[in-house]
Amino acid sequence: MAEAENFIQQIIEDDLNSGKIASVQTRFPPEPNGYLHIGHAKSMFVNFGTAEKYGGKCNLFFDDTNPSKEKTEYVDAIKRDIRFLGYEWARECYASDFFDTIYEFAEKLITDGKAFVCDLSAEEIKNTRGTLTEPGQESPYRNRSVEENLRLFREMKAGKYADGEKCLRAKIDMASPNVNLRDPVIYRILHATHHRTGDKWCIYPMYDYAHPICDYLQGVTHSLCTLEFEDHRPLYDWVGINLGFSPKPRQIEFARLNVTNLVMSKRYLKKLVEDGSVHGWDDPRMPTLAGLRNRGIPAEAIKDFCSRIGVAKANSECEISYFEAVVRDYLNAHAPRAMAVLDPLKLTITNYTGSEEVDFEINQTAENAGTRKVPFSGELYIERSDFALDPPPKYYRGKLGGYVRLKNAYIVRCDEALTDENGNVTEVRATYLPESRSGSDTSGVKAKGVIHWVEANTCKEVEIRRYEHLLRDADYAGQDFSERMNEDSEHILFGKAEPYLAEAEEGTAFQLMRTGYYKKCTEGGKLVLSEIVSLKDNFNK
Ligand code: ATP
Ligand code: MG
Repeated sequence: MAEAENFIQQIIEDDLNSGKIASVQTRFPPEPNGYLHIGHAKSMFVNFGTAEKYGGKCNLFFDDTNPSKEKTEYVDAIKRDIRFLGYEWARECYASDFFDTIYEFAEKLITDGKAFVCDLSAEEIKNTRGTLTEPGQESPYRNRSVEENLRLFREMKAGKYADGEKCLRAKIDMASPNVNLRDPVIYRILHATHHRTGDKWCIYPMYDYAHPICDYLQGVTHSLCTLEFEDHRPLYDWVGINLGFSPKPRQIEFARLNVTNLVMSKRYLKKLVEDGSVHGWDDPRMPTLAGLRNRGIPAEAIKDFCSRIGVAKANSECEISYFEAVVRDYLNAHAPRAMAVLDPLKLTITNYTGSEEVDFEINQTAENAGTRKVPFSGELYIERSDFALDPPPKYYRGKLGGYVRLKNAYIVRCDEALTDENGNVTEVRATYLPESRSGSDTSGVKAKGVIHWVEANTCKEVEIRRYEHLLRDADYAGQDFSERMNEDSEHILFGKAEPYLAEAEEGTAFQLMRTGYYKKCTEGGKLVLSEIVSLKDNFNK
């Protein structure tokens, strides 16, 4: 058998070895109330990945017990994002598929004297729950007869009562040290239209009650969820035991993924979309899977990240720079190289006439990536920041009288800088050394700096989009992030790109030499290069 890589896999191996289970069945259980984010990628990695490893199956289970927040749009987006990561679900199901059975199980609990209809308001229930140190108070309705409970519950279902007028509670123990076991509400009245069952129901089961039932009905062996459900496990088990489930699914909790500088809750992400802070759920700055995909981050890099952070029992926070380093690693190995100038400055080589093509290595880190041709002439654009009239010490790029190498082409000496009335450089004039061509340099001149460039007559206008994090600081913004929003996280520049980029396949990720990793796309005929990740780590470790 495969080697267990974490405590969950260890439990599963023990269960397989002891014969407790014959095969592994898990489920990935999103609530369709928003788009998936990178935290869900971890959950998928655990649920799909573990099932895959042991030759088992993982279902896609939509937890749609909350009709007012759920939408079919989200169901479709979630499926798209799971496919993007390359996972395949065995079965697609919904909590709502099981509403009839969930209801019948509630009648069974009532018949067994284990559930009762309560007339207390939500407020009163909360106020009589007790505290961590004091027991709660029993509801005055706790001892209704089975017959009365059944009649009232059926009336609830038939729509006789208004929202909140009554509810169904499990009869467990108001003095339990675990507050979740103090007669929890298991059904509530809600006159809401459900995205799948329409107006069939006006009562809906609560998550803690419905989830173990849905797991059982799907044949789930291990119900893998995040740590905040640990305190709910006794209730999960209570439901299974009192409904006589055999074999009973086992809930195992693992740590959530938290990442600095990222908002990671569907509720807050939704707010960003609704208040126009971002262009949509798939805005490249969003930590949603749709956003990451749109940003140009490959699925393999996301899965690699999930695998490297591992699965632990204790919560922790991951630096965003770590995620970026993983993405950079992947792109360094896979992305073809190209040149574009973000802030163009004209460079004229006064002793060069005609044009030629120079060889350019497609990816020097990949084996056999080969070379391609790049047009070159005496009229070029270089990066404005690669020339200095008043250079600081150790500045090896363009400066008057200094030599600098044009990447994959020639060494030039900058002779003259033309300026406008404000003293801004508008053009640099240079001479090249004909015998300094890259690959066959016999000039004997050592140029310490190498700069990128594009040929002026063949290059394309390009819109460049650069991004900063949505959150200004590194603290995990689990709660109110509004004060930490970076109001200026998107920057649009207009540059010049070599023609190769205009012809490249849509969506390709490139390393723009000395600049960063960018995704190529075309929007309304316009060439756009949008930043995926910087070339180097900009963040303090
Ligand atoms: P959100 O607060 O973003 O809505 P959620 O937990 O309510 O998150 P669900 O749709 O209920 O979202 O989550 C589906 C599954 O993904 C659950 O099992 C949940 O535990 C898991 N999950 C959600 N966020 C994370 C995270 N940050 N790290 C790991 N797993 C997560
Ligand atoms: Mg949720």
